[in-house]
Amino acid sequence: MSATQVTPICIAGTWRPGSGAAYDSLYPATGEPVATLRAASLDDVDEAVTRADQAFRTSGWARLKAHERAAVLWRIASTIRERSEELARRQTLDNGKPIQETRALVQSAAGTFQFFAAACETLEGTLTPARGEYMTMSVHEPMGVVAAITPWNSPIASEAQKLAPALAAGNAVVIKPAEVTPLLALELARICDECGVPQGIVSVLAGAGSVIGDALVRHPLVRRVSFTGGTTTGRQIAHIAADKMMPVSLELGGKSPTIVLDDADLEHAVAGVLYGIFSSSGESCIAGSRLFVARSVREAFVELLLRRAATLRVGDPLDPRTQMGPLITARHRESVARYVELGLSEGGRLLAGGRSPDDAALARGYYFLPTVIDGLVNSDRMCQEEIFGPVLAVMDFDDERELLERANTSSYALAAGIWSRDYKRAWALGRALQAGTVWINTYKQLSVSTPFGGFKDSGLGREKGRLGILEYMQQKSLYWGLNEAPLPWAN
Ligand code: NAP
Repeated sequence: MSATQVTPICIAGTWRPGSGAAYDSLYPATGEPVATLRAASLDDVDEAVTRADQAFRTSGWARLKAHERAAVLWRIASTIRERSEELARRQTLDNGKPIQETRALVQSAAGTFQFFAAACETLEGTLTPARGEYMTMSVHEPMGVVAAITPWNSPIASEAQKLAPALAAGNAVVIKPAEVTPLLALELARICDECGVPQGIVSVLAGAGSVIGDALVRHPLVRRVSFTGGTTTGRQIAHIAADKMMPVSLELGGKSPTIVLDDADLEHAVAGVLYGIFSSSGESCIAGSRLFVARSVREAFVELLLRRAATLRVGDPLDPRTQMGPLITARHRESVARYVELGLSEGGRLLAGGRSPDDAALARGYYFLPTVIDGLVNSDRMCQEEIFGPVLAVMDFDDERELLERANTSSYALAAGIWSRDYKRAWALGRALQAGTVWINTYKQLSVSTPFGGFKDSGLGREKGRLGILEYMQQKSLYWGLNEAPLPWAN
């Protein structure tokens, strides 16, 4: 693996190194550089946005017939599929996720473009009931320049979730991927170029969020921000958006409860709980990090859980058998380890993991073992703060009403899981849980056709779903006068 050449970034359709500082993007499994980049500078941000605005107004992209824009999106979907293996491998090198997961993310990105091609082609305006001598119509129009800011945990899928509907709606898009995982957003921009998106309509600016991301959000020509990331950053962006009177969507953090009722199928529940917290090494906004298990089945459940957790394959992310790869950076692994120490200092008992693996072959990577801790109460910091790593807090309960109160006692409300054979109990609990998504007898299943987003500190707005395209459009009403005579007031 070598990264001697500088990987260009995409500034309004021109491919060149940014004018900011040089940095390496590292492979989390070894710490070796995968690519060397130069970050965008503040001037690059201004150039990308100004030229995106120009391209929006003059390139004809926004004025293409919907089926013509849809055809371009279809080509993007097909190209992603044709290049899927190479893209998945590149993404694994960029962020360390196991190849099986990055293959799925690449397919998901292709599916997202295909889905929004259909949404674009079938979007209708409405003829509204007239209440006078006129005809009334409601139509939706693109907004202009959209800033799409994404985190490092699911590149290509996160970017596609913003880029596809924003392009389908006819906007220009400036993407700011996470500084540590810029490569797949850059590949997407190349694919957009190849597939006929006009020059300047898509830019990708690598660099630090506090500098480049902040400048992008504040830029007067950016008319809409779609952000995925942490709640603290999301709140800062929301303040700027309020001052600019700019619509913003915020997909933020989570601390999701998974609930195992006493009548659950324990085999299914264990598989779901393990997948919910340990897939993506827990670096997932929807990780089921707080487990509430009915006291009557607790012992059997935890015994099975620990037995299965011990067999999870932690290792080389390029090996298709690997289930858990490394964490994203050494710094993030330190943060996860500090949370484990905090949990233990709060009275927790370590049941599994809590450290890096012993395997010498993994010593250079940022690995952390699947970790299970019990003995905590829901108000402990370890149960309230997002760790974003493979750490599960196990708690038990007797009474369902009290359980509901504890599960809902969180500033976050992104997702929740319920395991029960009784559909009536599961239904009642599912409706009472505060969460944007509730899974019943499954977990972490996601579909582009179903809206996604959080309650409370987990976010504002929704992504995906057929109407997700409207998030990137502004509604306009048109009145067509049909009077034979002039309006009466003027005469
Ligand atoms: P983060 O620190 O908030 O960063 C997210 C993105 O925002 C990155 O591109 C970052 O840039 C940029 N950024 C940072 N400060 C900024 C600022 N002041 N203005 C504009 N942009 C700024 O989050 P993260 O650590 O990358 O990601 C983990 C978080 O994302 C977790 O909380 C997770 O739950 C959340 N997440 C939510 C969802 C969802 O759908 N709800 C999905 C995935 C992840 P740099 O990192 O390059 O500096």
